[in-house]
Amino acid sequence: LSQLFRPLDLLGMVYRTIRQGVIDMGSMFDLIDTPSEVTDAPAAQPLSVARGHVRFEDVRFGYDDGMPILKGIDLDVAPGSTVAVVGPSGAGKSTLARLMYRFYDLTGGRITIDGQDIAQVTQASLRAAIGIVPQDTVLFNDTIGYNIAYGRADATQADIEGAAKGAAIAGFIERQPDGYATRVGERGLKLSGGEKQRVAIARTLLKNPPVLILDEATSALDSRTEAEIMDTLEAIERGRTTIVIAHRLSTIVHADQIVVLEAGQVVERGTHADLLRRGGLYAEMWDRQANEREEAEAEAA
Ligand code: ATP
Repeated sequence: LSQLFRPLDLLGMVYRTIRQGVIDMGSMFDLIDTPSEVTDAPAAQPLSVARGHVRFEDVRFGYDDGMPILKGIDLDVAPGSTVAVVGPSGAGKSTLARLMYRFYDLTGGRITIDGQDIAQVTQASLRAAIGIVPQDTVLFNDTIGYNIAYGRADATQADIEGAAKGAAIAGFIERQPDGYATRVGERGLKLSGGEKQRVAIARTLLKNPPVLILDEATSALDSRTEAEIMDTLEAIERGRTTIVIAHRLSTIVHADQIVVLEAGQVVERGTHADLLRRGGLYAEMWDRQANEREEAEAEAA
């Protein structure tokens, strides 16, 4: 049966890649005046974020074909805490992130930030409050400094360098012959997946949003890169309300709450220890990934 769904998975993946390019260029909507699929409510007010308390209340959603994808999701992300969303491919994890950024409107329920329904606030203020570190960052054919500052026209060179430092990419940039003026992208320096992700982290540090969505890369990074990125991610998660869409469970062991999504429903929730004790889907996924890690390590040895 899984063979049957593979082409669909692939389509989903292509779609996500394109979509994430768009997410990354969220603020371009204003520039190129592309009508988004959602519109501001007539009396929309700017979102006012005090603590960054995110709640999903019986959230229901399906894409155009009307097939339900999320079937009543309740989530309570305490201010400053980290919630990880895990689950099989196609469970609806990325959909959850897209709804928070309001790329689509819900078919039922609501999402609130500090008590304000995100459908009732201006999209510009909502998107200004949320930082997204996507799976795959789109870089512009410009300098690495420009790519870090992207979206923050008022950033000074000192701001940019501070963010690069926080994202653990300053050393790499300083080693380039042209430093921050080094060109990247198709016609310049090619960055690895890990380096690109660090550019995205630096961008997010500059934006300094109270709410953060991390969409973890599906493709395995080598374990050293993964460990380095984990450290920098921990640094940006501190003090922010964070939702992590996770594929590798080893990266979310310390999350305050882990939510297991299956076919659009929450089937388990708790801490890593709670869920292992429970011996359900999470424990099964954990065992499987632990075996895969062991096999990969044995192969590498
Ligand atoms: P993965 O772990 O593979 O990233 P996921 O849990 O993030 O999966 P989603 O990307 O949220 O899953 O997708 C949930 C379901 O919605 C899948 O069945 C997917 O094919 C479908 N889907 C995603 N985007 C669209 C779209 N634009 N139109 C129709 N269906 C979509």
